[in-house]
Amino acid sequence: MMKSSFDVIIIGGSYAGLSAALALGRSVRQVLIIDSGKPCNRQTPHSHNFITQDGKTPQAISQLAKEQVQAYPGIQFIDAVATRGFRTPEGFGIETEAGAAFMAKKLLFATGLEDVMPQIEGFAACWGKSIIHCPYCHGYEVRGQKTAILANGDVAVHMATLVNHWTKRLLLLTNGPSSLKPEQAALLKNKGIEIIEKKISHFEHYQGQLKKVFFEDDSQLDVPVLYARIPFRQKSGIPEQLGCALTENGLIVVDQLQKTTVPGIYAAGDNSNPMRAVSMAVAAGTMAGAGINMEMISEGEAVAH
Ligand SMILES: Cc1cc2nc3c(=O)[nH]c(=O)nc-3n(C[C@H](O)[C@H](O)[C@H](O)COP(=O)(O)OP(=O)(O)OC[C@H]3O[C@@H](n4cnc5c(N)ncnc54)[C@H](O)[C@@H]3O)c2cc1C
Repeated sequence: MMKSSFDVIIIGGSYAGLSAALALGRSVRQVLIIDSGKPCNRQTPHSHNFITQDGKTPQAISQLAKEQVQAYPGIQFIDAVATRGFRTPEGFGIETEAGAAFMAKKLLFATGLEDVMPQIEGFAACWGKSIIHCPYCHGYEVRGQKTAILANGDVAVHMATLVNHWTKRLLLLTNGPSSLKPEQAALLKNKGIEIIEKKISHFEHYQGQLKKVFFEDDSQLDVPVLYARIPFRQKSGIPEQLGCALTENGLIVVDQLQKTTVPGIYAAGDNSNPMRAVSMAVAAGTMAGAGINMEMISEGEAVAH
């Protein structure tokens, strides 16, 4: 029978959560991982820039991690959606969508972010395949190709300058009037980057591979790759509900040990780090696992060997 009380509950069992679980399992802690199985990179066919796993599918990386983590007897994993957090005399409780409740002394949120897709037909189907967010993750594979950037203002200048390192065949799509300052527009033009201010009507693609961008004036652009920086929100509202402070950009505030502003609650991975990468999520998870274990040692929490 499943226990209902643990040392730590980790909400989110992807890279950050599994990495923390490994540190905690190896610290002989009793850990429950609650995961709804929707990591933000699930659509991308290959994950890059994480040593030993370069080019693997996102699922293969997390599957191997899951197998290794679950080899530790203190770790339990359930497929479920955590819907509510509450306080208990010993720490915290987490309720799931199915109505189950679990208790723990500490909580770790490794819940990631949800990318908010623009409502342009074809965008969501191409996301992670030919509409990409990060040159370090996917830029090498499409280097030198004709490439568009969907952005405006300061972000557009930053992205265009960065991506220009991987390809000189760049266009900037501002999807409406440009908000670039004259000197920013001049900088991009000097680099040979054309700025197109027309409103986009839809993206034509074949199985997520971008073919053309169509504009509202019925003109079209052949382009196989597009970079987009899109808004995001916290995937789980529970940290905020329990009082964890967020930054002005909507990330959970953490210190160097991944402690949030609420004692006993930690956060790791994309939900609290602007540098979104598997390696960074794994590193933050390791730090959180070690931080939680140290906190429990300092509170005199004994371990049954
Ligand atoms: C399209 C795309 C492609 C990418 N490609 C790369 C790449 O090639 N290389 C690279 O290094 N990085 C890449 N990244 C970034 C990388 O995917 C993230 O940095 C990484 O997934 C963050 O890990 P995480 O564990 O913090 O969050 P996630 O991997 O997003 O996982 C969060 C987990 O928490 C679960 N969860 C959330 N809320 C709840 C809840 N209430 N109850 C239960 N479970 C919950 C989710 O289901 C999910 O399993 C990419 C990102 C995107 C969007």
